[in-house]
Amino acid sequence: MDQINEFVDERQKAWCIQCGAGIADVDTNRDHVPSKVLLRKPYPENLPVVDTCVDCNNGFSPDEEYLHLFLHCVLTGSTDPEQHLDAKIARALQRHKKLRARIERSKTEYRTIGGETRCVWEPEEERVERIVVKNARGHVFYEYGEPMLGEPTRVRTLPLTAISASEREDFEYDGVVEELLGSPEVGSWMMTRVFTG
Ligand SMILES: [Zn+2]
Repeated sequence: MDQINEFVDERQKAWCIQCGAGIADVDTNRDHVPSKVLLRKPYPENLPVVDTCVDCNNGFSPDEEYLHLFLHCVLTGSTDPEQHLDAKIARALQRHKKLRARIERSKTEYRTIGGETRCVWEPEEERVERIVVKNARGHVFYEYGEPMLGEPTRVRTLPLTAISASEREDFEYDGVVEELLGSPEVGSWMMTRVFTG
């Protein structure tokens, strides 16, 4: 990943980008965007990081753990630790029995007309949403140099395979950030990219 140094106005960095607390008054952590639980090792070099307050950083951990395990269970097709090739995930599923049971409850099996058994997994949307919004705030701040402290007007999560071709085109359309936010903050990554291509 190319590293472009940002030189955003320091006054934009006065708050925790998640809760709006004055960053000078609280303990802070470096928070990775995207959340490390959404990545596989080896991690990309120069992973973006943003400062958040320790309370926010810790507060997201249970939801991140949930999402991490949930995604692994969906990909593996099971919450049974023995089915998981990733030893860390298998151990986590063994350790967090309640969480495992919650994930198991989100699974519905059904039979296809051809007689195959398939699964539908429905995640706990609020938990997923919190992590999506956290990451969105982190990305916007990192790229754009602009804290987005308000509540989002809309959050929608669904598998890429479940969206239509035109929705996917909209999702991947480069100009969408510009339309949403106006011009990037002077000195932000995005501004550098706009000018350097
Ligand atoms: Zn905070």
